[in-house]
Amino acid sequence: MSGENAAQWGLPCEVTFCRRCVLSNQKPLSVNEYEHRPDSRKDTLPIDAEGICLACRQMDKVNREIDWAQREKELLVLLDRYRRRDGGYDVLVPGSGGKDSGMAAHLLKYKYGMNPLTVTWAPHLYTEIGWKNLQNWIHVGGFDNCLFTPNGRVHRLLTRLAFENLLHPFQPFILGQKTFAPKMALKHGIKLVFYGESPGQYGQRVPVDRQSGFTDSDDAPGFRLRYDATRFHLGGVPIEHILAEHKLSMADLATYLPADGKALAEAKLEFHFLGYYIKWIPQEAYYYAVEHTGFQANPERSEGTYSKYSSLDDKIDGFNYWTAFVKFGLGRATYDACQEIHHGHITREEGVALVRRFDGEFPRKYFAEILDYLGLTKDRFFQIVDRFRSPHLWEQQAGEWRLKHQVL
Ligand SMILES: [Zn+2]
Repeated sequence: MSGENAAQWGLPCEVTFCRRCVLSNQKPLSVNEYEHRPDSRKDTLPIDAEGICLACRQMDKVNREIDWAQREKELLVLLDRYRRRDGGYDVLVPGSGGKDSGMAAHLLKYKYGMNPLTVTWAPHLYTEIGWKNLQNWIHVGGFDNCLFTPNGRVHRLLTRLAFENLLHPFQPFILGQKTFAPKMALKHGIKLVFYGESPGQYGQRVPVDRQSGFTDSDDAPGFRLRYDATRFHLGGVPIEHILAEHKLSMADLATYLPADGKALAEAKLEFHFLGYYIKWIPQEAYYYAVEHTGFQANPERSEGTYSKYSSLDDKIDGFNYWTAFVKFGLGRATYDACQEIHHGHITREEGVALVRRFDGEFPRKYFAEILDYLGLTKDRFFQIVDRFRSPHLWEQQAGEWRLKHQVL
């Protein structure tokens, strides 16, 4: 298809919203970030013949079919296999001290008697509330924690490249954070890694290889032992170009690359989500973390949505959601409303009203700091952004960008 309605990056040309939640068929499914380049095509959320999306169908399964008592028994068997009695750490819990990692670490330690090491990959720019919540996790919750902060110059460069080439400023963070957990597990001789909520998997077991920081693709088992980093792209740029143009060495980029495949295979690391074993309700994780790990919500709602308790740590969080809104027409309020509809906290009608009120609101609060961080002027920032507005989603009316299709 060509012309003014052509959809970019393989997004479906026709925009369809789920009849039960507020997601559309434009939502990308997970991608292999190492192969992500400017023209990458994307698999997107399927919506079936009855107009219901895959996320809603999976949620039906969680609500009706899963025997949670049985799942908890499976959890106990698993934990018993790894529990150590010699004082060593027996489970690694990566996280920021937000509600989900807060609750996961606390349950593992204080309900199930494990000895977790918590590890944190630092945000680009800590917010005050994010720093406070990390400290509370450690001091109020009561955990050992390793905080890792990547080389600020390299991280900033990769974030800028990812913004310019992919409009995906979070990509280096995602890669770094994801490979950090297995590397730390190896370093500390821990065989079990536990995350909190399943990322959009709603009670499905996530294949180990998708979570181990190698690759998201299904060819992972073979791939992981013979990966060739020169094949990878970071920030949409082949690694060899980054090395040549920015006078960096592989050592500068090692933090973003997968852990040693051979060592990982030998260590037989296991990756699990507590959300697979325990019914994970974000609102309840919030109350739990407030009570047990000193978690605090923001005093004000986050820009682009109505919520106050998720993704609060990083000054760039709002831009992560906002850039996705530009590319796919789905913003931060959509994701919050979708979750609450799935858990029966709000109706679809209420969700639609929240999306129409808050989705796509520009994250003004830290804009000056983000421009400074990315080394961009305001004009250049919006020039880049506008290149990523697919004509099947956006039109200009009286000089303003408007979505052609909104949830109704
Ligand atoms: Zn849905």
